[in-house]
Amino acid sequence: RLSKRLGKIAQEVPAGSRLADIGSDHALLPSYLAKQGTIIQGIAGEVNPGPYDAAVKQVRASGLEKVIDVRLGDGLAVIAPGEADVITIAGMGGVLIASILEAGKAKLEGVRRLVLQPNVGEAAVREWLLGNGWFLTGEHILEEDGKIYEILTAVPRTESGADPESLYEPLTMADGITADRAVLLSMGPYLVREASAVWTKKWTYELDKLRKICDNLAGSETEASRSKEAEFRAEMKRIEEVL
Ligand code: SAM
Repeated sequence: RLSKRLGKIAQEVPAGSRLADIGSDHALLPSYLAKQGTIIQGIAGEVNPGPYDAAVKQVRASGLEKVIDVRLGDGLAVIAPGEADVITIAGMGGVLIASILEAGKAKLEGVRRLVLQPNVGEAAVREWLLGNGWFLTGEHILEEDGKIYEILTAVPRTESGADPESLYEPLTMADGITADRAVLLSMGPYLVREASAVWTKKWTYELDKLRKICDNLAGSETEASRSKEAEFRAEMKRIEEVL
């Protein structure tokens, strides 16, 4: 059985896909999808030898060697252009996910869907998608074992026909508060609109963290600390308004 988090990612992979799961660790996601018959071909990419070995063992133990190829290498370097039509990258920071996509841009031709699950730094992923012609088609948020995860799914702009920028146009909500571009990039254009209980919990927690940082900074006399504090207080105000 997959975790709730990996299960939700699995649901975002269409039947008949040729999948590349980058940073696959134990190759749990491609193994599950191959067993279900959802993917017709899978590549499990790993940059570290330990997780790579674990993936090889997992695939062998499941008798899936014919469907899943485990490859050692950095990011998208493990795939050839046109080899995968869906790419999943899960369980790492958003900045790292964005840098993997940036470094592997040439491999994205022919890819029809990206399913990305940053543990932190979701804004970096949304910014990369926006700047590189990918349209965010959906966002999911879930809580498992006391952690909150976001899953972002995107398709090439040419496929969706919609302008990715349109997602980040300032949004005026029922109470007259406007969510601007920066807020939508960090809090999620779909998630802001949905305002689910888990999302509210996440941002209430983030606010609390910022409040503690500000309280610590408030004791300091330096100019740099004061300007940092002002910056964080402004961010807190934006988050509070939207919540
Ligand atoms: N994707 C799995 C999941 O979501 O459960 C595993 C997540 S695990 C926390 C992150 C994995 O990404 C690690 O096994 C790490 O070795 C791998 N990784 C980190 N940077 C990578 C890169 N540039 N290319 C490929 N794999 C990478």
